[in-house]
This record gives sequence, C-alpha cells and structure tokens, in this order.
Amino acid sequence: MAIIGLDIGGTKILGAVFNDQGQIMDKEKQPSKADDGFERFMQQVYHVIDELINRSDESIQGIGIGFPGTIDQNGHVIFAPNLPVEQFDLAGHLADRYHTKVLVGNDVNLGTYGEYCELDIPYKNVIGLFPGTGLGGGIVINGELYIGQGSAGELGHIVVRKNGVKCSCGNKGCLESYASKKGILAYIKKEMKKGRKTVLKKEAKAGVVKSSQLRKAVEDGDVLTIEAIDQFKAYLGMGVGIIMNIFNPDLVIIGGGIVENFGKELMKDIRKHAKAYTLPGIYENTKLRHSKLGDDTVIYGGYHLIKSAMSTN
Ligand SMILES: [Zn+2]
Repeated sequence: MAIIGLDIGGTKILGAVFNDQGQIMDKEKQPSKADDGFERFMQQVYHVIDELINRSDESIQGIGIGFPGTIDQNGHVIFAPNLPVEQFDLAGHLADRYHTKVLVGNDVNLGTYGEYCELDIPYKNVIGLFPGTGLGGGIVINGELYIGQGSAGELGHIVVRKNGVKCSCGNKGCLESYASKKGILAYIKKEMKKGRKTVLKKEAKAGVVKSSQLRKAVEDGDVLTIEAIDQFKAYLGMGVGIIMNIFNPDLVIIGGGIVENFGKELMKDIRKHAKAYTLPGIYENTKLRHSKLGDDTVIYGGYHLIKSAMSTN
C-alpha cells in the first residue's frame, strides 16, 4: 500500500510516494508553469502524479494535496493568488481521473499537520507559522487539523498596525506585511526612496528575493537588510506572542526558507520578542521550535491527511 503526498506551489510541484511505514520511497518535482494558464498547469500536476504512479511497485491508495489558496471543506479550490485556478473541484477532478481517494487542503495547514504528525513528543496542540513570500499559518487542536469551514489558520492576516503597510489581501497592517519576504522588501524599498543604498536594490525593485540572498546581505553588513530583518523578527515575535496568548498551545513551530537560512539566532530573537507580548505563565509553558521537515513539510501533511482519513473510515 502506498500514498502520494503532493505540494502544489506557485513555482513548483513536488510529489512523493510514501510506503506503509510513512517513509518516502520516490520523489518527483516539476515547474508549475502558472503563467501558461489553467490547462498547462493541470498538465504539470498530472505529470508529477503519473510519474510517481508509473514508477511505484505498489498500488496507490490515496493522494493528499497541499494547495496554496483558500479551499472549502470538500477540497474545492475557491481562490489561489499565485495560480490560474479558481472555483474548481480539484479533489473531485483528480479522484475521477485516478480512481482513488483525493483530499485537498491549504498548503500551510497541511505543512503544520505534517510537522505535528512527525513530532517525537506527542503534543496535542500545535500552531505552525511559515514565513515565506507571504506568511501562512496552521492550527492543530487536540491532535486534529483545525480548518473551521475550510480556510482557518490565516494567521498572517491578523492586523498588527492600524493604517499600516498595505497587504496583498487588500487590508492594511497585516502581520504578513511585516513578517514575510514581501515585508522585508517593502521596508528596503521604502528606505531606498529616502536615498539610502543597499546591495538588494534590484531585488527590492522586482519584489523577489531568495532567503539565501537575505542571509548573505546581512553577513556582508548591508545596513538596510539588517534593519529589515530586525523588523521581520520583531513582528514575527509579536505574532508568536499573540498566538501564544490566544491558543496557549504546547508548541509553536516556525518554518519556511528565511528560518532555514538564519537558523538558531533568528529563533532566539523571535523568542525574546514573543516574551514581551505574552501573559505571565503562557510564555513559560509554550515551546517554540523551527520546522524539522524543511521542504518536505507539505508532502508529509498530504500523506498524513490520507492516512488519518483511512484509519477513521
Ligand atoms: Zn492581509
């Protein structure tokens, strides 16, 4: 028996076959080709799944998919900011095509669930925060992924500043507008307008930067990038503090490329900032850790989503 976990992203689609013991047996990665329209994008999705099925010795019992957008309880995609998909029954469509169980969830929700299921310690209440281009979140309560009516966990859109920086969602002052790559670049761009210099001039203008470039700019002593990362840490810490106060969870997991690149020192600063916003007793009993699955968080989430659905049926 085998299960496919799929991580559909704005630029790439990553898939893996998991065996009975939850080990990855095979992987496949393809570009999403999001700019080439819906049909071309779906061809890429089929391509990854077809390759994995064709190469697998065992029959596939289900496909669990993390998708970067809002999804309803039935696996219908409502909206995706970075992919040419809207109001589409992705789960139903793929279930018909592959004659197998297909479940679709928001990618960060599934990433959090994947991290939760792979924990060494059996915590029950875990919150995930994944700063990347934007800032996604996920909520596990009493061992179950909490999705509300489908789209819960949008922790990046908690407003932390009245009339603050404009967010991609249309509001102003969302946590994501500060604690993400978009937020980091927006800060650099704002300061550049005052005539200040930075090695990330090109990236700030284009609005795209790799986490490794941020790390290098900080190491090279680029003052604007250092300030932008300081702001990132302060706001992410504030977000962690807010989340600790609301959920008082066992554990908050921070994942994504920036955290991978900046590592331990970043976590130390986030912890320090979070402490300033939490009530006495809450901070002390909540653990804060960085993701342990790295790029594989979402495919693990897809695998565990199918596995838990099969065990409850
Ligand atoms: Zn927002």
